Amino acid sequence: MSNIYDAVVVGSGPNGLAAAITLQRKGFAVLVLEAKDTIGGGLRTKELTLPGFKHDVCSAIHPMAVASPFFADIPLDKFGLRFTHAPIAAAHPFDHGGAAILSRSLKDTIALLGKDADNYKRLIEPVIESWPDIAADAMGPLRFPKHPLKMAAFGLNAIRSADCISKRFETEEAKGLWAGMAAHSIQPLTNWASAAIGLVLSAVGHLHGWPIPIGGSQAIADALGSYFISLGGTIQTNVEVTSLNQLPAARAVLFDVTPKQLLKITGDEFSGLYKKQLTNYRYGMGVFKVDWALSEPVPFTSDHCRQAGTVHLGNTFNEIALSEQETSSGKHPEKPFVLFAQQSKFDITRAPQGKHTAWAYCHVPNGSATDMTAAIENQLERFAPGFKDTILAKNTMNTVEIQAYNPNYIGGDINGGIIDIRQLYTRPAVKISPYRTPKKGIYICSSSTPPGGGVHGMCGFHAAQAVIQDLKKQYK
Ligand SMILES: Cc1cc2nc3c(=O)[nH]c(=O)nc-3n(C[C@H](O)[C@H](O)[C@H](O)COP(=O)(O)OP(=O)(O)OC[C@H]3O[C@@H](n4cnc5c(N)ncnc54)[C@H](O)[C@@H]3O)c2cc1C
Repeated sequence: MSNIYDAVVVGSGPNGLAAAITLQRKGFAVLVLEAKDTIGGGLRTKELTLPGFKHDVCSAIHPMAVASPFFADIPLDKFGLRFTHAPIAAAHPFDHGGAAILSRSLKDTIALLGKDADNYKRLIEPVIESWPDIAADAMGPLRFPKHPLKMAAFGLNAIRSADCISKRFETEEAKGLWAGMAAHSIQPLTNWASAAIGLVLSAVGHLHGWPIPIGGSQAIADALGSYFISLGGTIQTNVEVTSLNQLPAARAVLFDVTPKQLLKITGDEFSGLYKKQLTNYRYGMGVFKVDWALSEPVPFTSDHCRQAGTVHLGNTFNEIALSEQETSSGKHPEKPFVLFAQQSKFDITRAPQGKHTAWAYCHVPNGSATDMTAAIENQLERFAPGFKDTILAKNTMNTVEIQAYNPNYIGGDINGGIIDIRQLYTRPAVKISPYRTPKKGIYICSSSTPPGGGVHGMCGFHAAQAVIQDLKKQYK
């Protein structure tokens, strides 16, 4: 490879592509190298079950993409990306047959929360109002915020445990809805800061909805890739980088990989202290995933669930909290908390006419090879009797298979490392700029940097800012 690039990005997940786009937009020449035969990382859609059934292999629902200042600033609609919305962003059914919902309309959401209507409003409305001002800081490294008072008000709740916040609610409906939101943090709900993601996902749901990309999450990767190429960028697939010697000379190399892989590829270049921090970096729970081809829509008892893009299956706060606690301590709960999505109901491109796809995962201990298909299907049958009769075919992935599919998902951890209070801002190491490594010209831009997992591109965007600062100094 010839030396014509300012920067090389290793890995084409949303963060790798965000870093590449941010640099290329500033006039730097960027090469993206991807190990697999298609770009996208967690953004891929494939016929995993039967011909004509398109399944999102990893990410499915994209509240963090529409909440992201990086995505808001790039014209992906001009590169074919279209989102669709279910009438209800997320629903949360209970054993009594009813459901709580997260709707774009705050009014519709609190209408189902009875005595907790005002409690929910008091918790979430301030985040909705301040989100446009705090998004860039909430989705970035630790630094002095642009709106310190608003950020402090958000932080005062975000730093608490989801369990602590749940005590503000009286009803099973509000507590359960809250548990489902907070359990996206993939850690025990008693952990400090486990409330943060629940607050953000709820507020963003009211502000922007939880969108579904038409054609599948691959459409986001394709639009990012096309935009990057339109800016003059270069992508090469089927190139697995195992050593720095493979790379063309460039002033900056950005790795869209996690600390474990970074150590393997570049470990010898780093100081002992940094190496030790990367070695001690902590990965969180893994996921077990199932995709189904269905003969008809999932027969949820609750009409609200039938209208929702995402359905959280876990019944009460206590049940979900127990499931997360047990999983985190190495067990496989009989009734796991299940995150479920039914994209084909709202995007007809996903399945043959009249047929449907469905997507679900539950949390499992890191590295688990246990088959959770039956436990997940039992949770669906519990809230949608007759579900099992609609199954035409299925595809499952345990944590070992998930990591084999994408080496960034170490032990099935989809967030590139646990996002608990100790690793929220110190991912992957304690440094003023978490994106710079001690080796000049080598950076990390994956979800193992702030703000962590999810499809938002903000890790890549911030890593690119560090590179831009450093390259500008070199070119002076
Ligand atoms: C089952 C599942 C469900 C999810 N659901 C959602 C969801 O609904 N919404 C959401 O927002 N997020 C979701 N996520 C999380 C989301 O997919 C990730 O947080 C996100 O993709 C991380 O982006 P990234 O760019 O950091 O890394 P990745 O997307 O993992 O991309 C890393 C890329 O680097 C490549 N790579 C790695 N090593 C090398 C190497 N040595 N050489 C060359 N290339 C390499 C990989 O092949 C991959 O393409 C889900 C993830 C999973 C697995």
